[in-house]
Amino acid sequence: MRMSVIGCGYLGAVHASAMAELGHDVIGIDVDPDKIAHLAQGRPPFFEPGLSEVLTSAMNSGRLRFSTDIADAAGAQVHFVAVGTPQKQGSHAADLRYVDAAIKSLLPHLAAGDLVVGKSTVPVGTAARLAEMIAASGTGASLAWNPEFLREGFAVQDTVSPDRLVYGVPGGDAGEHATAVLNEVYASAIAADTPLVVTDYATAELVKVAANAFLATKISFINAMAEIAEVSGADVTQLADAIGFDNRIGRRFLNAGVGFGGGCLPKDIRAFTARAEELGRGESVAFLKEVDAINLRRRQRVVDLAVSALGRPVHTAKVAVLGLSFKPHSDDVRDSPALDVAVQLRGLGADVVATDPQAIENSRARHPQLSYSTDLEETLRGADAVVLVTEWPEFRELDPVWAATLVRTPTIIDGRNTLNAAAWRAAGWTYLGLGRP
Ligand code: NAD
Repeated sequence: MRMSVIGCGYLGAVHASAMAELGHDVIGIDVDPDKIAHLAQGRPPFFEPGLSEVLTSAMNSGRLRFSTDIADAAGAQVHFVAVGTPQKQGSHAADLRYVDAAIKSLLPHLAAGDLVVGKSTVPVGTAARLAEMIAASGTGASLAWNPEFLREGFAVQDTVSPDRLVYGVPGGDAGEHATAVLNEVYASAIAADTPLVVTDYATAELVKVAANAFLATKISFINAMAEIAEVSGADVTQLADAIGFDNRIGRRFLNAGVGFGGGCLPKDIRAFTARAEELGRGESVAFLKEVDAINLRRRQRVVDLAVSALGRPVHTAKVAVLGLSFKPHSDDVRDSPALDVAVQLRGLGADVVATDPQAIENSRARHPQLSYSTDLEETLRGADAVVLVTEWPEFRELDPVWAATLVRTPTIIDGRNTLNAAAWRAAGWTYLGLGRP
């Protein structure tokens, strides 16, 4: 099928490449000329495992092109909208200006039978409003909402083989047309018996934010237990194991630590509460404000632990920060707890040196005041405390005996509860986890 993907960020660039790899003929469009220049040369503008290979292979096949000109979307039967929906400045609501602008710019290039497919995460009610905008254009095109569930770090695999597909479609013939078109788009996933939910716009929009709200709640739940463990002497990691053995609960997403971040979970739960308030049902999801507050308190906890563990005034101390991206296998530092901790420690006067396998460039662009090093040895040398905040394999596998020879004071704050505490203590370290004695 011929398709356009409008917005080539973390979601769109992967989606465009994966769709071309699956055999479709794809044009990726973005208003950012730098991003398009990178992509057009087969170079991903961000780090995502496997993307480089899929991008190169799709471009070599001749089925993938990139452009900054929305007019190049003309002729495609399917137009995916994958632009950003960030948090509005000064508000918790989602900023829909990019989605609106993308659809408006697309209207003159639509033809009868075309399907516009929203992939961005939007507040419930957005698709119905955009569908009216498209209907009013008189082009004969229609709209579906097909939320995206990919995880950064596994984005290619999640796009090619999703856990489930959700189509939000209009009623009647238009809905049947949209479903048929999307079934063709996702033919390989459908053939692999991927669970499929075909529903209305509102449900499709809500599925996405509900899923993120649930995941965020699960993480904040265990982090709340960590807070209680900290004042009662219990061990939250054993608690998580024990409750996780209950199949109804499950062990995944029960890792207490510095909390969640990234370009989705934090802004999505805030936008959800803002939208619920607009709909007069703020109380239904008021608990998400607590989920957010617990999450942010964990960052503060890591900073406080580090400061209190330093054997000297913070402004005379060197702190080594291991990790900057919001999760491993990504260079994304949007709302990253790791970067936040580094910035807060720097703000308190510490000499912070931070390292990350992929996220230094993005971090430097946002926080040039921090010192960065690509070299782990240099980062650790002379440190009065080491703070692990992103569980990259190279940090998890750090040898405590070797690391002890580099630092001034062997104190480690394990902000992800990912290290073997006994091994670190045996190597002479003061080991401090979250919610662990
Ligand atoms: P992003 O900021 O990385 O990418 C958005 C892109 O849209 C940017 O490259 C921007 O230049 C482009 N853009 C903005 N306005 C445009 C326009 N009018 N025309 C063409 N391009 C335009 O954001 P992202 O992380 O890719 O997220 C995009 C959407 O997908 C958001 O709604 C997000 O919540 C959702 N989402 C993201 C993920 C993820 O893991 N990143 C997963 C699921 C859903």
